[in-house]
Amino acid sequence: MLDELVAAWPPAEELADSGYLRPSLAAATPIAATGLRPHGEFGLAVVVARLGSGRLMLAPLVRAGTGWRRARPREGASAALVETFATGATLDDGFLVRQLAPVAMLPGERAIGVDQTNESVVVGGTVVVKWLAQPALRPPTVPDLQAHLAAVGYAGVPRPLGSLVWSDAARDQAVLAFLTEWLPDARDGWDWCVQDLLEHVQHGPEGCVATCPARSFPAALGRLTAGLHVALATASPVIPEPDTIVDRRIIGGWGTAAMTALDTALELLQDGAGALLRTCADTLRSDIASMDTLSTTRVQHIHGDLHVGQVLTSTRGLAVIDLDDDISIEAAERGRPLPAARDVAQLTCSLDHVGRMVDLRTGGTANAVIERWIGDAQGAMLDAYRAGLAGAGRPDLLDERLLRPLIAERTCVELLYATRVLPRWLYAPLGTLGRMASARRNDGGRSLQTG
Ligand code: ADP
Ligand code: MG
Repeated sequence: MLDELVAAWPPAEELADSGYLRPSLAAATPIAATGLRPHGEFGLAVVVARLGSGRLMLAPLVRAGTGWRRARPREGASAALVETFATGATLDDGFLVRQLAPVAMLPGERAIGVDQTNESVVVGGTVVVKWLAQPALRPPTVPDLQAHLAAVGYAGVPRPLGSLVWSDAARDQAVLAFLTEWLPDARDGWDWCVQDLLEHVQHGPEGCVATCPARSFPAALGRLTAGLHVALATASPVIPEPDTIVDRRIIGGWGTAAMTALDTALELLQDGAGALLRTCADTLRSDIASMDTLSTTRVQHIHGDLHVGQVLTSTRGLAVIDLDDDISIEAAERGRPLPAARDVAQLTCSLDHVGRMVDLRTGGTANAVIERWIGDAQGAMLDAYRAGLAGAGRPDLLDERLLRPLIAERTCVELLYATRVLPRWLYAPLGTLGRMASARRNDGGRSLQTG
């Protein structure tokens, strides 16, 4: 299969104008491929390609005339992968299926019509196939978190069904696609949290009642996150030693990476955005530097990209998705244990982003209500998170000293993500900086008065 694709490279593709900046397959060299459903009426294949930077790209492909093109939802590539799980059909060398639960053969595909970094397709109305846009090779010792959560019986994720994995000649492995149960009536947090806050803004603080969802969901997110971290820190056959202590050397590495993110953002951000970042740079730098005082801290496997968009609400309650890879971490670093505070810091930032989205939709007219909600929501989420850990007898999973530096780090990483991948999102992390700058001004004012 690989030879055929090499001869026909590059495949045709439509670089959809979704706002996401994605490299083209033409910029990459195909390094591995497998056919899917060899007896189907048209050729289907999965190709792994390497960019000049060393990063990997992945695409499902479909035969088009004498050549190939990137498969679109409805063209059968995702259904063919589900069929491979159902029938145990063999794949080309290096490709294997890791199955966690039985999967039936299912007809029919449709795209998920929301913003997404990767490409998820619903097959047969019951299974989501998520093709990872940038798979990463990792040593086989990096555990499969889906398998771990299934082993400890964690119910806060849609049921994991398995994954498609590719191993290179050195036996490093890259997950290429995940299969999970589809929750048909689910909405993600960029939808439901934003909707709840819009309602809160519409009735205003005066008309607000105790049952207002915008007042209760932050605590629910905190409890959910605590449950997830406790599950990830529970021993299983997949992860027998789920948490451990790291020393200064590792912590220093996080600090260096965070400072690099800040410096890179300072280089990349232009005009007003750059000026705002420069106003906050000292605060961010000193927050990050506060990590230097730690000589040890606890690490475990965490979600890695935990924001409200990763929390679905459905008739089954809240569920966390997307526990795969954080593309903000260099491929070689992914899959390593990290402090739980990193997820908590990112979730804290994303509550701010919910506020920014509502601020944009209400044209800045409700800014004061929103700013107040952000502070309250972040506090309530954190309190519920701490209570959740304490209730499970694991308060030690959170190192409070890391929250401030990791919120600063996440803020810089979000700025970089928006600049490089999703420019239309930049207003949100800039809003976070605006809040930081005004807190700084207010603090400055207070210290002047008291001084
Ligand atoms: P990405 O890495 O591209 O963000 P996600 O795995 O977070 O991909 O999924 C993107 C979107 O697809 C989610 O925000 C959600 O709307 C929808 N989605 C993903 N998994 C499911 C599921 N199991 N059930 C229902 N909707 C889902
Ligand atoms: Mg996601």
